[in-house]
Amino acid sequence: MFNPDTVTRFQSIETPFYYYDMGVLRQTLEACQAASAKYGFHVHYAMKANFNPKVLDIIQSFGFGADCVSGNEVKAAIEHGFGKQNVVFAGVGKSDKEINLALDADIFCFNVESVQELHIINDLAKAKNKTAKVAIRINPNVDAHTHHFITTGLDENKFGINTWQLHDVAEALRACPNLQFLGIHFHIGSQITDMEVYKSLCTRINEMQDWFEDHGFQVKVLNAGGGLGVDYHNPDTNTISDFESYFKVFKDFLNVKPGQEVHFELGRALVAQSASLISRVLYVKNGQKKNFLILDAGMTELIRPMLYQAYHVIENLSQESGARNQDLKYDVVGPICESTDCFRKDVDLPLSFRGDVIAVRTAGAYGEVMASGYNLRDRVQSVYSAL
Ligand SMILES: *Cc1c(COP(=O)(O)O)cnc(C)c1O
Repeated sequence: MFNPDTVTRFQSIETPFYYYDMGVLRQTLEACQAASAKYGFHVHYAMKANFNPKVLDIIQSFGFGADCVSGNEVKAAIEHGFGKQNVVFAGVGKSDKEINLALDADIFCFNVESVQELHIINDLAKAKNKTAKVAIRINPNVDAHTHHFITTGLDENKFGINTWQLHDVAEALRACPNLQFLGIHFHIGSQITDMEVYKSLCTRINEMQDWFEDHGFQVKVLNAGGGLGVDYHNPDTNTISDFESYFKVFKDFLNVKPGQEVHFELGRALVAQSASLISRVLYVKNGQKKNFLILDAGMTELIRPMLYQAYHVIENLSQESGARNQDLKYDVVGPICESTDCFRKDVDLPLSFRGDVIAVRTAGAYGEVMASGYNLRDRVQSVYSAL
């Protein structure tokens, strides 16, 4: 919901742009911090969800660690003051250059995704006369019950090490003197709202830590990854994800042993509701079968609907306060020369006109970061609330 002053402010700003509500961001971070601190859990922010510098600075100021999936993210995390002891580095395809960068930065932990990667990190660490701390990313074959495009923890997914390869992992860890085994890591998917999924994950984590201990490895870190979902349908009435219930599942079902640390990597749930994509209607096309609203923003600004069939609330900010004389169904589309450049079909909206300001809500995660220059478009701008 935007207050009238904010809507007035939008009227004088060139569209499209991302509008960040820093109050929502702070409230979300506070809620997550309070819920995790209750159990002494460590939360790393998954930077790939949004690495807008202002957003990063605020998240860092709340004391979260950083979960990175590229060398440049490791670099950015350190530049933004996330201490190197709080940086973890995951990714199924870390290049030698990226591994070297992270070794030089003395990060907390590599989340390793294959047996071959263990050997490569060992060799690169050896060349620098260093010891790399590693956690094993295990693919637990737990169904996240989320969209199949954003499921990562099934046997058919490319991520992590499958459980039938654990003997090879143990062998590699014993054969690699420049690796220090810290623990086990999991990340089963994104936009997960069913807490039963996390219960299943806890069961698998417990089995896996027992396996490692039975094979002579001390497990210091249990990293459950991220994936907690947000309510894309009700951004105003259900703005903050249920961090309390989420962390409580792990408190209740994870078998945490003395001296062990429990880590999480949340991305979407920390930032999604804090931004909207603000755009203007360029043209209204009324057809026999379809009415189209053609916006000045498209897949080059927010690709989630086109990439993952994602749902976003779409609002006409110019017409809503006025008399709603007539509701119509519009296909809300972008200007890009691709048929898939459509935010949503058959959206119920008030009668809309050229120049109306349109908000695409819940765009703070995997939004601005995925913007592209396709069609040689201008880079999307960002606007911030005062707080
Ligand atoms: C993307 C990612 C996350 C964060 O996922 P969200 O769904 O945004 O919480 C956490 N860990 C890893 C390894 C990831 O790749």
